[in-house]
Amino acid sequence: MLKHIPLSVPVFDGNENDFVFHAIESKQISTAGNYINDFEDQIKNRLGKYNVALKNSGTSAIHLALKMIGVGSGDEVLCQSFTFCASANPVIYLGAKPVFIDSEPTTWNICPEILEEAILDRIKKGKKPKAIIVVDLFGMPARYEEILGISQKYEIPVIEDAAEALGSSIEGKACGTFGDYGVFSFNGNKIITTGSGGALISANFEAIEKSKYLAVQAREVYKYYVHKEIGYNYRMNNMSAGIGLAQFLNLDKKIALRRQVFENYQNLLKDFDGFTTILEPDGYFSNRWLSTFLVNQSVTGFSNEDVRQTLLKENIETRYLWNPLHLQPVFKESTFYGGGCSEDLFQKGICLPSSENLSIEDQERIIGVIKRMYS
Ligand SMILES: *Cc1c(COP(=O)(O)O)cnc(C)c1O
Repeated sequence: MLKHIPLSVPVFDGNENDFVFHAIESKQISTAGNYINDFEDQIKNRLGKYNVALKNSGTSAIHLALKMIGVGSGDEVLCQSFTFCASANPVIYLGAKPVFIDSEPTTWNICPEILEEAILDRIKKGKKPKAIIVVDLFGMPARYEEILGISQKYEIPVIEDAAEALGSSIEGKACGTFGDYGVFSFNGNKIITTGSGGALISANFEAIEKSKYLAVQAREVYKYYVHKEIGYNYRMNNMSAGIGLAQFLNLDKKIALRRQVFENYQNLLKDFDGFTTILEPDGYFSNRWLSTFLVNQSVTGFSNEDVRQTLLKENIETRYLWNPLHLQPVFKESTFYGGGCSEDLFQKGICLPSSENLSIEDQERIIGVIKRMYS
């Protein structure tokens, strides 16, 4: 059996064991504890003047962001179509409707021109959208200069789904801080993990404090249980926060390793016609969470599916890029604005193995298999 190369695995080479052990020993295993506070402080220190609340998933952080903006039944929310379903599902939880927007080819994220067209058309049809969900897909920041201009012009708040973009930035400004609210995910497959977890970020300090209260069932501070609102069970627990803190302290190392993996692929693939990727626009910094490429079949003679199957036979795991949400059966009633960009990316795209501990020998083996496909 050929050695298995997985798509992406978490690496625990910091204080993870120690911190979990101490959380258990101190019996602080639930939604209060030192690691929750320390992890929040570490994120705050890195981001600057932003408040941070840890949640039990990125999805719950998006749900609470929508809630804080006041999205409710019957409202419309504009959402990037080229993303994971978790970007849009919380819109449905609140009884609102997602309206999907296509991507543009330089970042693969929401297209500012189509976004503005969609806003004008929704207003013309009698309903101004309540929020815009922008995603920094695979770690690449979206085109915020234009997007935030549009957000201000029409006074529609932005939720930045930076679930995949912890550590990415534009001219030094961190992803997660571009929108009115920002979201990180620490799911098992992300650049750092807490098993399952997420964070909500905002310059609006009160809103983040309110989200903390909503995340513990909206329990009032009182001698017995008093609830004035419906809350959620969305707070991160202290054991997860211990894992996350240990991972976060190694974030820059993890990003450097992921970027090295991407750079190695670029070098190994540079003479392969029809096998392309996107570069960072000027000033952009991507954490290169996953190394993603496009296979142009009219040049290569083979498709992304051919690459997937050929590598699978060699025990090497790859994955399609996100299947656009406007094409998902569950969202078939939803409105979509755009052309063919996200569909084209889905039809050509492939994620190659991207673990931070992937060896150069393994990368050479992967590229060797692809090279043989050309002949
Ligand atoms: C992972 C992810 C989420 C959801 O995060 P969870 O922590 O898994 O709930 C949301 N949006 C995007 C783009 C993601 O990749």
